Amino acid sequence: MIYLKSPEEFAIIQANGDILGRCHAEVAKALKPGVTTLELDKIAYAFISDHQAHPSFLNYQVGDKKYAYSLCISVNDVVVHGLPGALTLKEGDIISIDGGVYKNGFHADSAYTYGIGEVKPEVQKLLQVTKESLYLGLNQAQAGKRVGDVAHAVQSYTESFGYGVVRELVGHGVGKSLHESPEVPNYGRRGDGAKLKEGMVIAIEPMINLGKRQITVDKDGWTIRTQDRKASAHFEHTVGVGKDGPQILTTFSYIEEVLKTSTGLLNI
Ligand code: MG
Ligand code: MG
Repeated sequence: MIYLKSPEEFAIIQANGDILGRCHAEVAKALKPGVTTLELDKIAYAFISDHQAHPSFLNYQVGDKKYAYSLCISVNDVVVHGLPGALTLKEGDIISIDGGVYKNGFHADSAYTYGIGEVKPEVQKLLQVTKESLYLGLNQAQAGKRVGDVAHAVQSYTESFGYGVVRELVGHGVGKSLHESPEVPNYGRRGDGAKLKEGMVIAIEPMINLGKRQITVDKDGWTIRTQDRKASAHFEHTVGVGKDGPQILTTFSYIEEVLKTSTGLLNI
């Protein structure tokens, strides 16, 4: 079942996306060699709680497992769903921070991948291309188009660089639930899949591997890693299908402010 949202509901999701964007920026300010991923998670929990909101991921139930953190933090070869913990960042790492904010009955969901200090040129390129592919995908989020148009835009662009497009994990509808229909894969054919209608809200989230597309799951049951242990990047926006085209309801503007002035983070 695909739930269409009213303009008022778009506005609620956008307000949550604004809190989330500022939360990402607070976390970005703390990114440096030596910081643990658990410290970053605590910053996000405090920021979201201070805004009378709930971190969407905290206590998220998957089968009989409950997620115990506010963020998913995925470093280097971790694609998504990395667990915050004792891991410390070091120069040359890349780190994907994925977060969600729930307030006034709706979720917003977004992710950004950062480079810590000097990152290998090939990895830097992966981050740039993955971020660009997000915008190519979301530009297709228009009433009358189909999910496959979004998917195809992401896949065709990223594969043209020889990257692997993860198949097992996909974007999704967002609303009263964090994950709603339809699924929004990062691979597919133009004109395939669910038709996009005004009022739909979807999370578009390319997960792109420097090497092959195959993934493995760690023993913890959450952490998704590239099988070849090469780097993986992840960028995500929550996007509404509006009357006049795509409306990005989350924001990277606060993150980009931090990156502009930071000396220790890759500015992409
Ligand atoms: Mg997310
Ligand atoms: Mg998502």
